[in-house]
Parts: sequence; structure tokens; C-alpha cells
Amino acid sequence: MVARRHAAALRHIRQNEGAKFTPAPAAMPSSASVLPGLTIFQRGWMSSNNILLHGHGDGATLVDAGHVLHAEQTVALVRQALRGEALAGVVNTHLHSDHCGGNASLQRAFGCRITIPPGQWQAARDWDEVALSYGPTGQRCERFVPDACLHPGDGFEVGRQRWSALAAPGHDPHSLILFNAADGVVITADALWERGFGVVFPELDGVNAFDDVAAVLDLIESLGARVAVPGHGAPFEDVAGALRIARERLAAFRARPDRHARHGAKVLVKYHLMEERRQALPELLAWCAATPLFDAVWQRLGRPDGSAAAFAGVIVRELCEGGALAQADGMVRDT
Ligand SMILES: [Zn+2]
Repeated sequence: MVARRHAAALRHIRQNEGAKFTPAPAAMPSSASVLPGLTIFQRGWMSSNNILLHGHGDGATLVDAGHVLHAEQTVALVRQALRGEALAGVVNTHLHSDHCGGNASLQRAFGCRITIPPGQWQAARDWDEVALSYGPTGQRCERFVPDACLHPGDGFEVGRQRWSALAAPGHDPHSLILFNAADGVVITADALWERGFGVVFPELDGVNAFDDVAAVLDLIESLGARVAVPGHGAPFEDVAGALRIARERLAAFRARPDRHARHGAKVLVKYHLMEERRQALPELLAWCAATPLFDAVWQRLGRPDGSAAAFAGVIVRELCEGGALAQADGMVRDT
């Protein structure tokens, strides 16, 4: 019965996340090789990966909760992987909508405590959608109530494994990464992926954050981790190789911040289409023009193409040419 339910959940996820989803947890050997007692749900780009730290009787902890549109799937996957164990808590590396969108559903399903980075404690308590980025980015997230903060320098123990929280500003000023020194495992969120890192959002608002990205890459290097579990994509052992790619990308963005800004605009549009699945072109262009962060990027770039909507038309065309979106009969859809 459980297996049948699990298979149904996986079918549902594949349908929603396409080929980007890797089945979990039983069919995923990578978790076991990363660290016993840890289960990784590798999701697509719309939902962050979820990392389940098993508690061996004391309750498990889930790191990051995915997007709200996948919340039901996240609950099903976690329930299956828990095998009757309690879910004691959820820890968010940061509060982007793809990392905490499942918080509310997980709290309803398991009664677990939600722990967040301290920098957004008040914003989350007040559900300030501007400070939390959902307003400026035009993204969806279900309101949740946090229970506690995890401060940089603090640690927590799950199943006899100790995890330390380290500040990782850059992609998000409040982000944390988590390090298990005894086992050489680092959970890097969006500070380091196998091939790059997340958009440096403060830069889109004119706040210098490339230096923070560089410092966090140095910090990750100094940890000497055996394996990294990123917020998106598969776990990887070639941390030095990933750092090299990330530093090259950072150098390119520093040299041409306008390219980073354009990249940010593309990520906003692609992400919106992942939420909507498909949208009429005029409606999409109007959404872009009305989305504060998209408009801020347009302004920073010197207001190209005459209007934010016309600039959005160019961005959409480039995304279609690159295969990230597709357009037919006046509709734009996610690919
Ligand atoms: Zn993020």
C-alpha cells in the first residue's frame, strides 16, 4: 500500500517536474553514499532539494521544503522516507520561495518546528512579502509561522551527526550553509552548485554582493568538504571543480554586471513560467512590467528597448531561442 502510494507520488512529481526529478528515496543510491542517515530528495529547479536528516528515534529534521506548488508531493516523499519516524523540525537555509514553500504543509502534516536564519525572523513573523522577496519577484509562497532561529556559528545535532550553520550571503543576504565537519558534508543551498550558483539578488537591487559571493566560495573551500549537497542538482564530490567554475562565472559577472542583470531577468521570467506553466504573451509581458524586481533590472540596464514590457519581449524571445521557454499560438509555456 505504501509502495503503491509512493509510486503514485513519484508519478505525480514526474508529471509536474518532468525529467528534472530524480526518484527518491529508495531508488536513489546517492543519499547513502553521501552519508548514512541522510536522504536527499533531488528536485527540479522550481523546488529546492530536500535533505532529510534521520534522527534514529529522536525525530528527523528536513533541510529546505521546496516550492508551494509541490508541497503535497514533498509531504508524501517525507512521510514515506520517515518510515514512521517523527519529523521534529524543518530548517530553511534561506527563505526564497523554492526553499520554504512547503513549510506550512509540513507543519500541518507533522506538527514540526520551523527554524529559519535570523535575518528574516521579523519579516517572516509579520509575513512582510516585500522583505521576504515574494512581492518584488512576483513569486508565490504559503505563509508559515517560524518557531526559532538558527544563527551563524550555531549548530544542531540530528541522529548523532552535528551540523554547524555558517553565514553565506551573496545569493541571499540571510542565507546559511550547513556543515558536518566529522563527515565532511556541506549543504551549500544556492551559494554553490555543481556548475555555478544562484542569481546574486542584491546586485539586481544595486547592492554590491559579488564580494560576498567570493568570500563564501573561499569559506566553502576552507571547509575541505568531501561532498557538497547543493540546493539544486545532484550532490557532487568535485568541490574544487565546482569552486573553479563558480569563480569563473563570478569573474565574468564582475566584468559585465549587465550580463548578470539580464541573467537575473531571465531567471525571474523562467521561474514565473514554471509557476504558471503557460501564459498568453501580452499577459506575460504585463506581468514582467508590473513585477518590481524585473522593472528594477530594466532601470539598472538603462531602460533598454523603450519600455519594460518591450524589454520583456526581448528576454522572452531569447529564452525561447535558448529552449528554456517555447512559444506557439500567442502562448508562452515552460519547457
Ligand atoms: Zn535561493
